Parts: sequence; structure tokens; C-alpha cells
Amino acid sequence: MMIRFAIVPLLLALNFSMCKKNEVVSQNPQPPGASSPAAGTTTAGGSPGVAPVAASPKIKKPVVDQTAQTIIFCYHRLVDKIRYPGTEITPAAFEAEMKELKDHGITVIPMQDLLAWKRGEKNIPPRCAVITFDDGWKSQYEVAWPIMKKYGYPFTMFIYTEGVRGGALGGGEAITWEQLADMRDNGVDIEAHTATHQDLREGHNIMLASTGGKKTRTKLTGPQYEQWVQNEVVGCKQLLEQRLGIKINCFAVPFGNYNEHVKELARNAGYEAMFTVYGQPITFTSAMDSIGRYAIEANKPKVFEDAVKTIGASTSGGAPVAEIGAKDLATQPADGETVRTALPLIKANLSGIGQIEPGSVQMRVSGLGVVPATYDPKTGTVSYQVTQKLREKSCSVFVSAKSQGKKVEAHWTFGIEESPARAVPPAAKTPKK
Ligand SMILES: [Zn+2]
Repeated sequence: MMIRFAIVPLLLALNFSMCKKNEVVSQNPQPPGASSPAAGTTTAGGSPGVAPVAASPKIKKPVVDQTAQTIIFCYHRLVDKIRYPGTEITPAAFEAEMKELKDHGITVIPMQDLLAWKRGEKNIPPRCAVITFDDGWKSQYEVAWPIMKKYGYPFTMFIYTEGVRGGALGGGEAITWEQLADMRDNGVDIEAHTATHQDLREGHNIMLASTGGKKTRTKLTGPQYEQWVQNEVVGCKQLLEQRLGIKINCFAVPFGNYNEHVKELARNAGYEAMFTVYGQPITFTSAMDSIGRYAIEANKPKVFEDAVKTIGASTSGGAPVAEIGAKDLATQPADGETVRTALPLIKANLSGIGQIEPGSVQMRVSGLGVVPATYDPKTGTVSYQVTQKLREKSCSVFVSAKSQGKKVEAHWTFGIEESPARAVPPAAKTPKK
């Protein structure tokens, strides 16, 4: 059973890495220069006939729900007796948190799904979480992994290579290469967290450690620094890829300390995403080079609760919400469909849900908010004719209702690709280079 859960993310990771060899970090997943009205176009008043129509490129990618949100958690060591409350958590507290995600209806997704969503290639649930473990401690293998298996949760390991057992910084509590290989074979995502886990900015005190155990504190500048930081950012990636035969596309920055130079090195090395420890909900437009994670430690119990609240806030204040698949509601337009009009009729059939409380049906449309939809109790159909042109290339619809005291919610996304107007002004064409 577990194996099936585990293999899927691995296949996805392989698949994406193979077709994305040259992908680099992009600040904004939307195409640049999407819509600036051509000079002389009348926009005021906006009568339907003269609204500017951009020569929109064909939508080739599947339409993704741009309103989804993710929270990313970062854990370190799991120990029964907390000695370092800044980087440890008890297994019991950890497991309680994993359970809480389930209880709140927050889906734990693989990191590679999050990245595929950011690329516009794959949908993710409206409220989800990604779990990451930093540094490579053996307790992550021995204690955390069994708990993650129990819940069927995918996760990512951020490893600093000199901290793996046998490395200059890999002591008895460190994970081994064999354990990492075992995780890899079972679909765990393994990503990079530098070579020696230090502040990557030039001019900061760093510690140079040799395998013999000799440690020297020093400040590197110029070419010496460049050589050192190159190994931290690029060398670590190459080593993980070579030792484990994997493709690395994520980079977690130690302590969240980096700058433009480090970002550039990481981009050039082929990292698709960079992670810090400044927790925040991740949206479709969040920058790929500073993805915030919530570090969960024994001395900050509120961080987890706050993060869960942040992402749960859009629903009914903690009341259980049952998510209904859009397919079951025979939605119109269908989930993932692309329509030819910016004024579509939106419909869903709620009759399959059961008894709906009259007056509880609500429809929200991205870009419009709550719309005055009509609900016909006889047919169970909720519908809304859009009267104001939808401006984005994709539109998400949320339908919620109460059934037997429980809130049920469905949501889906469709694309909009209007037929181009007859006369496209030449200025709107993309210049050839
Ligand atoms: Zn770390």
C-alpha cells in the first residue's frame, strides 16, 4: 500500500526533471508583458465591442487553480528528551501535528507537485502543505519516516553533504548515505542544503573543516570566497546527484541567509526553487527564489497553529468542510476545460450531495467574488451567467452549501481563450528577435 503512495512522486520527479533540464528560477510564472493596452485603444466605459483584446497565445498547459495555497513546514531532529528546543521536537508532538493537518483537511502534497503547479502544469488541492526535514539527522530516517508512512505523507529531505555520516561534519546522529538511498528508493524527495551549512554571504565568518577533524574559523573574500561558495551551492548539488543518481532542483538556504549573488549562483546551477525559513503561505505568484517555510521547533509551539490557521482561514472558521469533486457536480464549464468566451454561463448540479439547506448555497468566482447565483431546489442546479468579462486566462469557481449541518465545498478551474478580434493592431504582436 505504502509503496504505491511513494512511487508516484518519484516518477513525477523523474518525469519533470527530464523535460525541465534547462529550467531556471523564474520570478513570475506568468508570461511577461501580458497586457498593456495599445496606444489609442478606448478603454473608458468598456462597452463590450471595444474592450481591448490581446493576441493571447494558445493555452497549451493544463489550466491550474491559481487560488490554491500551500504552507511548507520545516523540521529538524525528533527526540524524546528536548535538549535543544531551537531545533528539536518530540515524536509525539510531531505526530500530533501530522494528525492535525489531516483533521483540518489540509492535504500533504509532494514538493514536486508544488513546483509543477507553479509551472502551471498540475493542479494541487486548494489548501495543502509540504513537509520538509532539514540537515539529514538519523532520527528523520528512524523516527519521522515511519510516522510519515503511517499517514501516507510524501516529504522532502534537505541535506548538507558534509553532514552525512562520514563527512567532515557527520557525527553519530547523522543520516547515512545508505539510509538516504533507501529513502530515495521509496520515493522520498532528496534536495540540497549546501555542503557545510553556513552563512553563504561573502565576508561572514565561516568554519573550514577538514575530514581529519581540524576546524578553522576564517573570513573568505574574493576568489577564495567564490571557490568556497561555488562548492556550497553547486558542489553540494553535484555530489547528491552523483552519490544518489537523482536530479536536484530545490535548494534550502541555511538560516535563510543569502543575497543576490548566491541566488544567481543557484539559478545558474539549475535550481528551480530556493527556500528560506520565513514562513508564509505560498501562492501561485510567490517568487521561486525565496519560498518561505515554517520552522517547527519545541520552543515555538504557536508557529504550527498559526500556519494552519492562516491557510484554513478561508473556510468556515474551523468547522469541518467536505470537499466534493467537481466531476461529481457535472460542472459547466468542466474542470480544466477552456472556453471561447469571457462571459460564460457557470453551472453545477448539487443534487448528488444530498439535502441542501435552502439559502446556504453560495458561488464565488475568481476576479468577481461572491456572485448572485440562482439555485433551483427542484433540479439542484446552481447557475450564474457572467455579465462582466472575466479578465484572467483562467477562472476558479467555488460553490459551497450546507448539507445536514455540514459545510460542503467544491471548486474547479476553467480556462478562457477568446477568439481574437478581427483586427489585431500590429503593435500588439510580439516582435521577432
Ligand atoms: Zn539546516
